[in-house]
Amino acid sequence: MNMSRAGKLSVAVTALLALAGGFVGVSAATASQPNSHVQPQTAVTGETYVIGTDTTFAPFEYRKDGELTGIDMDLIRDIAANQGFNVEIKSLGFDAALQALQSNQVDGVIAGMSITDERKLVFDFSDPYFDSGVQMAVADTNTEITGYADLAGETVVAKRGSEGETFANSIKDEYGFTVKALADSATMYDDVKAGNSVAVFDDYPVLAYGINQNNGLKSVTEKEQGSSYGFAVNKGQNPELLAAFNTGLAELKSNGDYQSILDKYLEQPAPVAASGFFGLLSDSLPALMKGLGLTLLATGLSILVALVLGVLFGFCKVSESRVLRGLASIYVSIFRGTPLLVQAFFFYFGLPQLTGQPIDVLTAGVLTLSLNAGAYMTEIVRGGIQSVDPGQTEAGRSLGLGYVTTMRRVVLPQAVKIMTPSFINQFVMTLKDTSLLAVIGFAELTYQGQQIYAANFRTGETLLIVAALYFIVINLLTMLSNQLDKRFNK
Ligand code: GLN
Repeated sequence: MNMSRAGKLSVAVTALLALAGGFVGVSAATASQPNSHVQPQTAVTGETYVIGTDTTFAPFEYRKDGELTGIDMDLIRDIAANQGFNVEIKSLGFDAALQALQSNQVDGVIAGMSITDERKLVFDFSDPYFDSGVQMAVADTNTEITGYADLAGETVVAKRGSEGETFANSIKDEYGFTVKALADSATMYDDVKAGNSVAVFDDYPVLAYGINQNNGLKSVTEKEQGSSYGFAVNKGQNPELLAAFNTGLAELKSNGDYQSILDKYLEQPAPVAASGFFGLLSDSLPALMKGLGLTLLATGLSILVALVLGVLFGFCKVSESRVLRGLASIYVSIFRGTPLLVQAFFFYFGLPQLTGQPIDVLTAGVLTLSLNAGAYMTEIVRGGIQSVDPGQTEAGRSLGLGYVTTMRRVVLPQAVKIMTPSFINQFVMTLKDTSLLAVIGFAELTYQGQQIYAANFRTGETLLIVAALYFIVINLLTMLSNQLDKRFNK
């Protein structure tokens, strides 16, 4: 690659990153609350704890005007203020929050999380703060399913890793139904409304709240006796945080704050009339733009690293050394031979468990995408170099040019032309692959869309907007890349 081409490329990538930076501002997935009270110094004073929570579990945690709110959010923030520590909330999804806690990616979880004997083996729980239980709901148009006995041969849905799932599994053989697990309440409700599952098992206060908000469901059974909710830390970790939570909770109970939080969220608000499509568009655009910024940031960084990896390993693959060729082959086969989703889980949840070293979500995301894209880039570089007729190298060498000069002046200019369309292709793929990082709570475009329909239950329209944004950006960038290709590769 000659210098000017490399220069142009880096200008393009820098511009992309600047664009991304402009959108981002602060990560929408995190919000912190400074403490306001003056309290006696304790082990937690002035500390900042990262707390994981569910994506949407209204009235315990959900988004209102983009802000995380709900009983759990008020409780943890008020307890933090009362006890003089700070919290940074991460909205990860229920199962992911529990995984994150186990890998010490977060210090605690508050997510309407039931205190169960099984969980007590791996987590330490606070005093209980709310009594709950599982209930079953069906689509409000459904007149067929009125109890467990009508479920024979049907599929029901429950949240992955939740008490609702455990309960459904415990009675499925008796009633002859199948249990399917999804990651969050909003998708579960959609699944029932779409008719993919006939019923959902979820905690009764959450179902009641959603039904009151016209989410299209109705409950058909009495609630089951369930466990109480507690705040959790990893077993044996952060005991001072747990103690502070308990002290704070007791104080909130005695000063009336606890009761007013419950009253505030449990007295059912009147359902809000849905705004039209353009209302939804203008309400959701700020969050989606932030997400798009992070999408572009992760793409830009990953492509940059992948390009370096691809060139390095690509040259290894065509080198005369067997060791280098072998190394490059191992790298490519590992990252092409395993799914991207598994890699993302591994880098974010697995690696910290193995090393004891927490990793930030952007780093884990970029690591995943760049190592993955780098493997494909390696093959693009190898293919490009090898597709230049060997006669070209021989001609260069017979003119007395050295290996490096022959590569630089004869082979690479031709190879780069051949590689460019594949590079552009890989770039588009990596951009789309960033959406998979939503599962580890990276606040990119898809994640933002999920947060929005988790709160307003307007899945179809929100996904249309999200897809349109990807479509526009990808096509603009593809056009731009093709223009650059035409100008510099002719
Ligand atoms: N209370 C249930 C549990 O702990 C569900 C929690 C949730 O979905 N956030 O399993």
